[in-house]
Amino acid sequence: MAKPLVILSHPMPEAWLAPLKEAVRLVVGPPDVAGVDVGLQPYFAEAEGLLTWLIDPVDEALLAQMPRLKVVSNLAVGVDNIDLEACTRRGVAVGHTPGVLTEAVADMTFALLLAVARGVFPAADDARAGRWGLWRPDAWLGAELHGATLGIWGLGQIGQAVARRAHAFGMRILYTGRTPKPEAERAWGAARVPWEALLAESDFLSLHVPLTPQTRGMVGEAALRRMKPTAYLVNMARGPVVQTEALVRALQEGWIAGAALDVTDPEPLPPEHPLYRLPNCLITPHIGSATHTTRRRMAEVAVANLLAGLRGEALLYRANP
Ligand code: NAP
Repeated sequence: MAKPLVILSHPMPEAWLAPLKEAVRLVVGPPDVAGVDVGLQPYFAEAEGLLTWLIDPVDEALLAQMPRLKVVSNLAVGVDNIDLEACTRRGVAVGHTPGVLTEAVADMTFALLLAVARGVFPAADDARAGRWGLWRPDAWLGAELHGATLGIWGLGQIGQAVARRAHAFGMRILYTGRTPKPEAERAWGAARVPWEALLAESDFLSLHVPLTPQTRGMVGEAALRRMKPTAYLVNMARGPVVQTEALVRALQEGWIAGAALDVTDPEPLPPEHPLYRLPNCLITPHIGSATHTTRRRMAEVAVANLLAGLRGEALLYRANP
């Protein structure tokens, strides 16, 4: 019997794909085009599996061209690039990779929190550019994490890993979410507050919700104006949770003190974007889970999900009912 055909939207390191290569016929898309490339269209009708990245929209139009598709396996925990309802209607299982990336993303959240609070990059730029001069007691002053209030929106797996770190840093923890988290309240003294209080009371606001119709654009002008002028925003979730134009104004006009963004809207953020020119804004190119260990684990889970879906078995992690 012929091996099932699987479309991999973009190339990935050979070693990550070993278990897949034995079991399926692989067709691989180009490295530099977001989305499932139209050049792969001749294979769509036969494809039973699709391995996607978060830059690849999977919508009704694409699914309609893949009548034999059994499984979409996304190399990410977030599945906002996939029309879950359309997949469910067509009996297509959607896999994702929660858990394995939690600690790496929480580490990166703290890297950004510390870097933006202490102005690490502007200070390092000054040193490199010969602007060090004599040591002064009042130069390069930043904000302290210890004793500050961290607001977490979305106390899920990543949010909780951030809370655990924040507790060790001596921060007060507030969170907003749809469900109370009594264990987090006991372990780290986290307090659940309404959205408005989270905005008003946080010295650092860290976003860890998925991108959904409910969360999209929630951090807009009204939310940013409610924050303290001394507060910092960290976006580790998805770019469109924050309204970019409102954030530019907030940073330019001092509604908040600074922002650190691992995700932006759009992505990639074009080099001429005003956010890059703001000294109080730190931007990294969506690298939350980018460690050797974590990316390899994500690939393992994505491959396991794909193979299970092809066999009609339960996925390790399934994102749709
Ligand atoms: P998770 O465990 O599912 O946590 C998400 C949390 O957000 C939950 O506590 C969830 O439920 C809460 N939430 C608040 N409003 C929500 C809404 N309208 N719909 C659904 N959930 C809502 O997921 P995770 O593993 O922590 O990942 C969170 C997000 O981080 C991902 O979806 C992804 O977008 C992002 N992420 C980014 C990177 C990066 O590289 N920057 C890497 C990995 C993940 P409750 O409200 O009930 O608590």
